[in-house]
Amino acid sequence: MSDGSPDTNTWRASAPGRVNLIGEHVDYNHGWVLPMAIGQRVSLDARPAEGCWAIFESDGAPEPVRLDLSHPEPQATPDWGRYVQGVVWEFIRVTGATLPGFHATLHSDIPQGAGLSSSAALEVAVATLLETITGHTLKALDKALLCQHVEHTYAGVPCGLMDQAASTLCEADHVLLLDCVTHEYRQVPFEDPNVVVLIANSGVSHQLADGAYARRRQECEEVLAILDKPHYRDVSMADLGKAHERLGPVRYRRARHVLSENGRTLSMVNALEQADWMTVGELLYAGHASIRDDFEVSCTELDYLVETAHDLGSEQGVIGSRMTGGGFGGSTVTLVHKNAVARVQSALENAYRDRFGFSPSCFVARPSHGAC
Ligand code: ADP
Ligand code: MG
Repeated sequence: MSDGSPDTNTWRASAPGRVNLIGEHVDYNHGWVLPMAIGQRVSLDARPAEGCWAIFESDGAPEPVRLDLSHPEPQATPDWGRYVQGVVWEFIRVTGATLPGFHATLHSDIPQGAGLSSSAALEVAVATLLETITGHTLKALDKALLCQHVEHTYAGVPCGLMDQAASTLCEADHVLLLDCVTHEYRQVPFEDPNVVVLIANSGVSHQLADGAYARRRQECEEVLAILDKPHYRDVSMADLGKAHERLGPVRYRRARHVLSENGRTLSMVNALEQADWMTVGELLYAGHASIRDDFEVSCTELDYLVETAHDLGSEQGVIGSRMTGGGFGGSTVTLVHKNAVARVQSALENAYRDRFGFSPSCFVARPSHGAC
């Protein structure tokens, strides 16, 4: 395998995981999201191989994925092969490219099922590798859409566009403001050297929650059907209030989260641009309360991490904290003043270990660049 020196017989690609600062569960609800790519990535090295097989080996999965390229259609694979073959078959369908046989090895330092989007990074890394191998390049947004389609149709997860868009579009030292209706986006600078993004992975995997994710999505769609509106952007808090009885308490709360979260995301951009860290913190805590109480996708462990950060407070250097990602486990994102990060990290770890008997894994994330 390649040792890092240029070699015409190897191809390389990588794509990052992401952490969403705010705008949770609104990418499939016509909202705005504000993720950043993290330094953790899926990296692929590939070399040509005899025959018409594409073989992928991962250090994060026991079994390799073997695809017969002479039959570009769904094939029996280990579970993670759903993402890989989806991208391979869709890439061939969209670009008309012919793929030579190759053997790819995959390394990833993105924890799986931790709300940091290892699946989108896997999809985008494979798509980027195929671009490198074939010379057919996709526009970054089209690549994200192709990978989202794969997650829907091959993995059965009806996700929005945020994860794949973050993995393709993000830039270093920026967060990405993505409009999930128009797909317009803007890079928002995030480069204050005194502010650090601390991620705490609760160690609770969200894998069992796939049904709940689909149910949230359905509830949100039902709200629009009842209100007879095509988009959440056409709905106001006053509309919701008037329709409270028709919606019922659960759908009402789901929709209230969507509307309030959209407001928070846009306010967050202003606050970041003005380095107004107090408002940033308030928005993070308010976002967490909304996703916990109105959208109900948090869990005891994530709530505890956020409460612990809140209790440490600004005096101990914490700016704000919330759960990030799909929920039911996964990670929290906490903004911390740089000189306090070691103290905050060990306070979170100790409190969590005392309460739950095991440690969360905490790490600092810098806004990183998208797939390459
Ligand atoms: P998340 O995207 O939040 O990490 P998902 O449940 O959406 O969680 O995706 C996790 C799945 O993605 C894993 O179960 C596995 O199928 C696949 N996956 C992610 N990273 C890897 C990897 N390094 N090797 C093999 N499969 C991976
Ligand atoms: Mg995922």
